[in-house]
Amino acid sequence: RADVLTIGEAMVTVRCAGPLRLGGDSRVSTAGAEANVAIALSRLGHTARWAGALGSDEPGELVLRTLRAEGVLTDHVVRRTDAPTGLLLRDTAAGGRARVHYYRRDSAASTLSWEEVRPAVEAGQAGLHLTGITPALGPAPLEAVAAATRQAHRSGAWVSLDVNHRSLLWSREAAARALRPLLPYVTVLIASDDELDLVADGDGERDRVAALLDAGVEEVVVKRGAAGASYHDARTSIDAPARTVPVVDVVGAGDAFTAGYLSGRLDGLDAYGRLERATLLGAASVACAGDWEGLPTRAELPALALPEGETLR
Ligand code: ATP
Repeated sequence: RADVLTIGEAMVTVRCAGPLRLGGDSRVSTAGAEANVAIALSRLGHTARWAGALGSDEPGELVLRTLRAEGVLTDHVVRRTDAPTGLLLRDTAAGGRARVHYYRRDSAASTLSWEEVRPAVEAGQAGLHLTGITPALGPAPLEAVAAATRQAHRSGAWVSLDVNHRSLLWSREAAARALRPLLPYVTVLIASDDELDLVADGDGERDRVAALLDAGVEEVVVKRGAAGASYHDARTSIDAPARTVPVVDVVGAGDAFTAGYLSGRLDGLDAYGRLERATLLGAASVACAGDWEGLPTRAELPALALPEGETLR
């Protein structure tokens, strides 16, 4: 039995130092929102299982090797011979902005089915973590996410959903249609402030949070990048500023933040403690290159809370 099961697509990333069109040095690693969360949780000492489909190819081997090296359970990963592992190229556009190019259409994960992920869900978990990316990959993953959500809820597990809208994969309308029916089974809903209207109607954050709580969600966590985050439940609302850190790579901050929140939840921390751990992990991700490479182990967690610039001896 795992503390947390995550289901999604994991890919190989190639990160270019400058604009891709100029070629030059690059770095190969892995990415995928749900896999990032699984790695972050595993580093913090929780038992995390990742389920998904990979190609029987070198990128698939790298993903598996990385997850295993990080202690993530991969016993229900599906391998395909007729479809490749997805690929994500990352470069810097004019003006210094990070840019991503997906090569994930018809990838192994795009046909991930409920029958394929069912054994992982039935293996048991305290919580199931999903994102709005997986249902955008195709009709089969959409059905797999919906069925996994219902099944986990039925079995007494909590369910967390990070809206994570990816406009390159689907429209806001399609995302809203797919995600709203899941809300009655969702315990923790995590969204950026500009994603709340995908899952709830209303004018402004207050109304939308109230609509989510009415729909059955118990905890709503709103991310605002460098402006911090907020937490809402039926009784309280809390704001947490972001930590001031040197910004090296903002991609992956959301996944790290989510993992920090879920880790705090598994440890039985109150809402302040959960937001604090989430904020620490989000900042740790921003301060390092890579989605997950710079994330802390459990032993490193206290040092993260020290003021910036202090030397660890
Ligand atoms: P992504 O999808 O790129 O992973 P996101 O949009 O889901 O990111 P953000 O809102 O950017 O998530 O970041 C999540 C959390 O990480 C924030 O609430 C904050 O606590 C922390 N964070 C993000 N950006 C910064 C920053 N520049 N400095 C410090 N902390 C940050």
